[in-house]
Amino acid sequence: MLTEQSITGHTGLTCLLGSPVAHSLSPLMHNMAFHLLSLDYVYLCFDVKEDRLPDAVAGLKAIGVRGFNLTMPNKNKMVELCDHLSPAAALTGAVNTVVNENGILYGHNTDGAGFIRAAKEKGCQIAGQTITILGAGGAASAVCAQAALDGAAAIRIFARTSSRFYARTENLAQRISSETACQMRLLDLADTDVLRQSIAESSLLVNATPVGMAPDTAHSLITDPAWLTSELTVADLIYNPRKTRLLQIAADAGCHTFNGLGMLLYQGAEAFRLWTGQDMPVAPIREKYFA
Ligand code: NAP
Repeated sequence: MLTEQSITGHTGLTCLLGSPVAHSLSPLMHNMAFHLLSLDYVYLCFDVKEDRLPDAVAGLKAIGVRGFNLTMPNKNKMVELCDHLSPAAALTGAVNTVVNENGILYGHNTDGAGFIRAAKEKGCQIAGQTITILGAGGAASAVCAQAALDGAAAIRIFARTSSRFYARTENLAQRISSETACQMRLLDLADTDVLRQSIAESSLLVNATPVGMAPDTAHSLITDPAWLTSELTVADLIYNPRKTRLLQIAADAGCHTFNGLGMLLYQGAEAFRLWTGQDMPVAPIREKYFA
């Protein structure tokens, strides 16, 4: 797609900072969108580990980068390096998108917004609903924070009590319950009666663990189809494979289902909007890279 005239002295820079980054779909998605909308920007990937993040960010600021994304392991460290945080970034303590406005860095977390847009596209309501989430890592926190900000009535998040995220998630649950209208509780994943009851009371169940992800595709945290009714929507944040074992069980039980591809696409679309003020042309990008 690049031609010898594509990059000029005026071309603005956007990029991804993380490690590893070479596998990322983000440059394909953003560069295609810039091209389709004739926007004079380019998106590159830089392999930057957490200890070099402050230097990398200072350098990007000095050269007037328009904005950048953060991926593992940099999302938490970036919080300290921003001048302002969006409500979702402040709640989660994680930044995946930065906008540079004349040297002032605005940190956002678009992962949750990406998930909510994908859920709404599948006909899910968030406002007023009860949601059950499996796993308490970065993706789960982003989904919880955005769902709470978008008016979810209750969130029950189930994690292993040994989880390295347990204390952090307890803190998130307290903040969400006191700072938003949503009541969020952290519960023990091993307490199967409580989990089954929570799923029965929910309109949306979200797997935010890597259980079921390639290459270990035979696994699912929920195996009994009797736990799932046709009124429930089941989402898996995993997109490889496209249909996890959980989604197969849920589809067989008559549930609506969706995988993590929509979240991946729409977190990028939200970052694109923050940098350019324009809507990403998602249909051709989805067709080319997210089928
Ligand atoms: P993370 O920060 O490492 O968190 C993973 C969570 O899953 C932790 O709570 C972990 O619990 C739990 N977990 C892992 N193995 C488990 C098991 N066998 N049984 C029960 N719980 C288990 O990872 P993340 O970034 O949140 O990502 C989670 C999933 O979402 C991954 O599959 C990732 O690919 C996907 N994701 C998708 C998108 C998208 O755009 N679609 C974006 C981000 C992430 P412990 O702390 O107890 O180990």
